[in-house]
Amino acid sequence: MQSHLQVQASDIPSLARLQTVHGVPREVIYDLVLANRILAHYSVLDTFGHISVRHKSTNTNEDCYIQAAYRAPASVELKDIAIFRISDSESADEHDQRKGPLEKHLHAAIFRARPDIQAILHCHAPSLVTFSILPQTSPARLRPVVHVGASTGASVPIYEIREHNGDGTDLLIKTPGLGDDLAKKFEADVRMVLMRGHGATIASVQGVKDLVHKGIYAVLNATIYKDAILLSGAMGGEVPVRTLSKEEVEACGDHVTAVQRSWPAWIEELGEETGLN
Ligand SMILES: [Zn+2]
Repeated sequence: MQSHLQVQASDIPSLARLQTVHGVPREVIYDLVLANRILAHYSVLDTFGHISVRHKSTNTNEDCYIQAAYRAPASVELKDIAIFRISDSESADEHDQRKGPLEKHLHAAIFRARPDIQAILHCHAPSLVTFSILPQTSPARLRPVVHVGASTGASVPIYEIREHNGDGTDLLIKTPGLGDDLAKKFEADVRMVLMRGHGATIASVQGVKDLVHKGIYAVLNATIYKDAILLSGAMGGEVPVRTLSKEEVEACGDHVTAVQRSWPAWIEELGEETGLN
């Protein structure tokens, strides 16, 4: 059976236009498809959630981003990748009128607010949502506790939509204004923001592979931390939970070299469906 990644660009008009009209490198498009599938494989993304990569269109010279227009991450194929303007999150291709995901505004807003950010992931992973419903000042607020979980930063702000749009929203980032409000949480050293009762948004200045690493290990870190808190509670709270210090977080860095090893292994795990091994 032919893999969806083995098709020729000429077989998919939108893919051909991404490459020849907008100048998106072939490997960037393929890596984005793989990122969707890897993150779904690791349950960072379920049937919702999305990931985007910054790109400046060679056609219009506009700042843009590419992402799957509207499909469950585990099923994303090359034909699903579309290009959108950072200025207004609308399609940047006159021949492609796909609208993109419902919460597309958060991607555009964060790319506008942080020109250094190269890729953005929005997910509803349960272990992260658990920490989103605790107050920002809680002793159990989310912090890095394992070295691989340090790449999402020492401080993880919580976005409270009620502070910006009052009570009664469905918690989703469905307008440009809400996107801008969320983007304000991404101060210079912030790499992940929890969204109360909703999910998390993670950003990378390195690119999509680093972002996949951050997503997988942010979920693992939250799971381990929650287990430790529960164990400590079962012991009457007499056994303290020890988190990474700020100095340890800085020393752990972004795990760039670890990603170089992990990426081929993640693809291999998807081997049967991608046909790449
Ligand atoms: Zn969401």
